[in-house]
Amino acid sequence: MRIANHAGRLALVEPDAESPGGLRGLDVERASDGRFAADPQAVYDRWDEFRDWAGTADLAAAVPLGSVDSPGAALGPVAPRPPQVFAVGLNYRDHAAESGMDLPATPLVFTKYASSFTGPQGDITLSPGTVDWEVELVAVIGTGGHRIPAAQGWDHVAGLTVGQDLSDRVAQFAAPPPQFGMGKSYPGFSPMGPALVSVDELRAAGLDPDDLELGCLVNGESVQKGRTGAMIFSVPVLVAELSAIVTLLPGDVVFTGTPAGIGAGRTPPRFLGDGDELVTWCAGIGQMQHRFVTGDRS
Ligand code: ZN
Repeated sequence: MRIANHAGRLALVEPDAESPGGLRGLDVERASDGRFAADPQAVYDRWDEFRDWAGTADLAAAVPLGSVDSPGAALGPVAPRPPQVFAVGLNYRDHAAESGMDLPATPLVFTKYASSFTGPQGDITLSPGTVDWEVELVAVIGTGGHRIPAAQGWDHVAGLTVGQDLSDRVAQFAAPPPQFGMGKSYPGFSPMGPALVSVDELRAAGLDPDDLELGCLVNGESVQKGRTGAMIFSVPVLVAELSAIVTLLPGDVVFTGTPAGIGAGRTPPRFLGDGDELVTWCAGIGQMQHRFVTGDRS
C-alpha cells in the first residue's frame, strides 16, 4: 500500500504507468464515504483499520496526481504534524568516518521540528549559513508502544518514505556542543515523500526493507549513494531503542540517518547554492525534486 498527501488530503496512490515518477490516486475521504478523514496525519491513529480498508479499495478509479517535477502535483509531507519527530545521527559507518566522529554505542538521537516539514517538490529557501544535503530513509510509526522488542519493530512501522535532513552547518556547529535540532529545522529543511510505502508492499516488489538503495544528486551529479543495510542501528532496532525510553505514538516520524557523501565531508567542502537542484531517491519509494533559492539572508 502507498499513501500520499495530495493538496493536504490523504490519497491512496500507485505509480502512474503512463507518467514516469508520477502517481495516480484516490481521495481517501471520498472513496471511503467519509469513514476516514481527509487529514493525512489522522490515518495513523487508525492504521490497522485503514490498512484493511485500503486492501479492498478499488484503485481502478484512481486519477493522475502529477509527478514531483510538475508544479501542479501539490504533494505534501506524508506525516505533516507528527506528535514526535526523532532523527538519528551517525548511523552509517562511512558517514561517521567522514564526519571525524567515533561510532555511537547507542543511537545518537535529536529532533527536527515539524515546522520544517515540506513535501517532495518545490523551492526551498537557503538559510544564512552553509546548507548541506543528507538523504535519509524515513519511517512513520503506525501502532505505537513502549519497550517494543526489535523482533517486533517492523510491526510498528506504518511505512517508509525518503527524506532529506537538510542541515545548516554554521548553525549546527556554531559553538560546542552541536545544535542538531536547530541547525536542521529551518523552514523546508525536512522534505519527505513522494509517498509512504508499507513494508509488505516493498517485500511484494521483491525489495528487502532492511536493505534499500538510496541517494541524491545535485544538478544531476550523484553525491550520495548507499544502502540502508549499512545502517549501524536498523529500523527495527531503532524502534526498540527509542521505545526503550520514549513511548512511540501513531504518526511519529523517524529520520534514520545519512550515508557518506555529505557536502561538509568533501575537500573542499561543497554546499547548496542559489538555483541548485537536489533530486533525492530511494528504491521502491520514488524520488523528490527541490530547487534552492536565496531568501532574506540578513
Ligand atoms: Zn541526518
